[in-house]
Amino acid sequence: MAKKTIRNIDVSNTRVLVRVDFNVPLDEQGNITDDTRIRAALPTLDYLLERGASLVIMSHLGRPKGQVVESLRMGPVAGRLSQLLGTPVIKMDEVVGDEVQKASDALKPGQVLLLENLRFDPRETSNDRLFAAALARLADIYVDDAFGAAHREHASVVGVAKLLPAVAGLLLEKEVLYLQGLLRDPERPFVAVLGGSKISDKLKVIDKFQNLVDILLIGGGMIFTIMKADGVSIGKSLVEERLLSEVGRIMAESGGKRATMMLPDDIVVADEFKPEAASKVVGAESIPEDWMGLDIGPETIGRYSQLIASAKTIFWNGPMGVFEWDNFEHGTQAIAKAIAANQGIKVAGGGDTIAAIKKYGLEDRFSHISTGGGASMELLEGKELPGVAVLPDAEF
Ligand code: ADP
Ligand code: MG
Repeated sequence: MAKKTIRNIDVSNTRVLVRVDFNVPLDEQGNITDDTRIRAALPTLDYLLERGASLVIMSHLGRPKGQVVESLRMGPVAGRLSQLLGTPVIKMDEVVGDEVQKASDALKPGQVLLLENLRFDPRETSNDRLFAAALARLADIYVDDAFGAAHREHASVVGVAKLLPAVAGLLLEKEVLYLQGLLRDPERPFVAVLGGSKISDKLKVIDKFQNLVDILLIGGGMIFTIMKADGVSIGKSLVEERLLSEVGRIMAESGGKRATMMLPDDIVVADEFKPEAASKVVGAESIPEDWMGLDIGPETIGRYSQLIASAKTIFWNGPMGVFEWDNFEHGTQAIAKAIAANQGIKVAGGGDTIAAIKKYGLEDRFSHISTGGGASMELLEGKELPGVAVLPDAEF
């Protein structure tokens, strides 16, 4: 069911408490190295400001674990947000308290206030009632646009949504629309491309996708645990030994599932885990003992690309190889381009996957790039996200 959003309510002359995901990466000097997450919230923030709301914005940043950590203050975020909005941002030094209450009471339409890092207060992650109430007192309406935190049962996500009239922001709406669209009624053929380093991160999604998608193309470091479980020698390739039996079971049962699961025919192997390592292409069943697989090979690229071309819906998570290094990026680059060239619905997610899409300049070619790593995976695993469940459904 679609959620009630900011488009379904009148926000003029209201104070709106907006939960966003401004958990941006910072370098050692505290500079923001990628402001994608701030930009992703702008449609919602602009929408509210244009309609005469005043905003109390809140986010977490990093993992301060319930204490004030100077390097994780929201100052740099406030600066960038102000630039992007083109309006001053009043930055609070506390999350809640008298000063914050006074500042929010004084807000005029069009003004923007940013709270200090939510996770400086241990009551955020414990979903403390009084903390949620203190947040709720800052505004008339609650808007959740923090899809990246929607899988967390935290005060700013779930607690406050029960205390104020609550609606979804435009980013959260779009995320849920595209991701639930994949689960509900995807146009077929539906091809999923899964890669990345660890199969432990992706096992539940593989399990779910076996009954959802038509073709499951597998690459990245996680293929080697699957191959080893199947008795194939993988040399020194990445493997998660403790998952061998579970992976073996999933593979043994895969024949009876909807999806046809595909593994690479050929592999680019290296003699060391280094950018300048010697490399060669070998058959997937012929990995030499002292070598390790770091990318999918050209035959696999060809076969996967053809299947991708035939799809009407595509979901991609996880690079096909160590795309950070020139000698092992071909698989990821080629698959990214093959997906980009498809005319259907194309959805991607995952931090490194997004980095790869950006590296090849293909952002604009995707229907939707999910900003929520853990949240998008949990949604695709079929779990209900507490931050989404707590929001009221749209009325028709
Ligand atoms: P995402 O962040 O998109 O979910 P992951 O974090 O699961 O993706 O995996 C990305 C990482 O996997 C990349 O840093 C990449 O270098 C690594 N990787 C891909 N293939 C291999 C491989 N064959 N061996 C080791 N690491 C790999
Ligand atoms: Mg990653």
